[in-house]
Amino acid sequence: QLYNKVLELKGNIRVFCRCRPLNLDEIASGTSVAIDFESAKDGELTVRANGTSKKIFKFDSIFTPRASQADVFEDTAPFATSVLDGYNVCIFAYGQTGSGKTFTMEGTEESRGVNYRTLEELFHIIKDRQGLYRYELSVSVLEVYNEQIRDLLVPESQPSVNSKRLEIRQVADGIHHVPGLVEAHVNNMNEVWEVLQTGSNARAVGATNANEHSSRSHCIHCVMVKGENLMNGECTRSKLWLVDLAGSERVAKTDVQGDRLKETQNINRSLSALGDVISALATKSPHIPFRNSKLTHLLQDSLGGDSKTLMFLQISPNENDLSETLCSLNFASRVR
Ligand code: ADP
Ligand code: MG
Repeated sequence: QLYNKVLELKGNIRVFCRCRPLNLDEIASGTSVAIDFESAKDGELTVRANGTSKKIFKFDSIFTPRASQADVFEDTAPFATSVLDGYNVCIFAYGQTGSGKTFTMEGTEESRGVNYRTLEELFHIIKDRQGLYRYELSVSVLEVYNEQIRDLLVPESQPSVNSKRLEIRQVADGIHHVPGLVEAHVNNMNEVWEVLQTGSNARAVGATNANEHSSRSHCIHCVMVKGENLMNGECTRSKLWLVDLAGSERVAKTDVQGDRLKETQNINRSLSALGDVISALATKSPHIPFRNSKLTHLLQDSLGGDSKTLMFLQISPNENDLSETLCSLNFASRVR
C-alpha cells in the first residue's frame, strides 16, 4: 500500500541506477573510478569529471557495484505484485554496451536477473492468492532489430513464420497486439526457464557475431497475465514487459557506412523516441509520440495511464567511459 503511494507521488515512473564493478582487466590496468557512492543511500550519485568538478544525479534507488542480484530484486519485486493487481508494467535496462544491462535483466545461471526473479515472484504470489484468484500466464520473447520485429519463440523448423512481417495492430480500445506472435503458456518455473532458454538461443541464430548483434537490438520479454477474482468473477488482463535495450553508445557517423549506418540510426531513433515518450508522460504532455519507433509503438498500451515504468540506468565506473556515462545520466534526468 505504502509503495503505491510513493509511486503515485512520483508519477508512475521510477529510475534506478546500477553501476557495474570494475572487471579484472580494468583492475589489473589500474583504471580510475569516476563515480562516488557516498550518498547513494540518499539516492544521490556523484560524478567526478576531470578530478575536480562534481555533478550530482538523483535516483529512486542506487545500486553500487557491490549490490547483489537479490538486492536489486528487492526493490523490483513490488512491480511484480502490480502486474497481478492488473497494472501494465514496463521494466527497461538502458546504458552503453558493457554497462551490465544483460546482467541485470537476464543475469547468469548462478546469479539470475530480473527476468527470472520477476516470474518466480509472480508464481509465489499466485500461490499465496490460491483460492481467491486464478491466474494464467503466457510469455512471448521477441527482438526489435532495425525497426523489425522478430519472434524468438518460433521453432527453427518453421522459420517461414518470421519471414512474414510481424506488425503491431490495435485490437479493441487502446489495446495493441502483434498478431501471430507465439505466446507460450507457462505453469511453473521449469516451463519459464525453458522458454527463456529458447528465446536466448534463438537470439544468436543467424547473427555472424552474436554479442554484437545483441548489443544492436532490443530484446523483449512480454508476460501476459489473465486474472480472475474467484469471489466476484471479475477478470483482469495485464502485461509485463522486460526490455534489455540496445546499447546507447553514440557512434560517430563518419565511422559507419551502409547497413551499419542504418542500424545505428535506427537504434538512436528508437532510444530517443523512448526518452521522448517517457519524458512526455512525466510532464503530462497532451501529445505522447508513441508512433515514432517500433519499440514505443509496441509498448504503447503499457506506458502511461496507470501503467508503471521502471528504468534501470546502467553505468560503468570506468573513468574512460565517463562521456557515455554522462550521456546516460542526462538521459535519465530527462525521463525523471
Ligand atoms: P551489456 O548487456 O550492457 O552490454 P553485460 O550485462 O553483458 O553488459 O555486462 C558486461 C560484463 O560485465 C559481463 O561480463 C557481466 O557479467 C559483467 N557485469 C555487469 N554487471 C555486473 C555486476 N553487477 N556484477 C558482476 N558482473 C557484472
Ligand atoms: Mg547485453
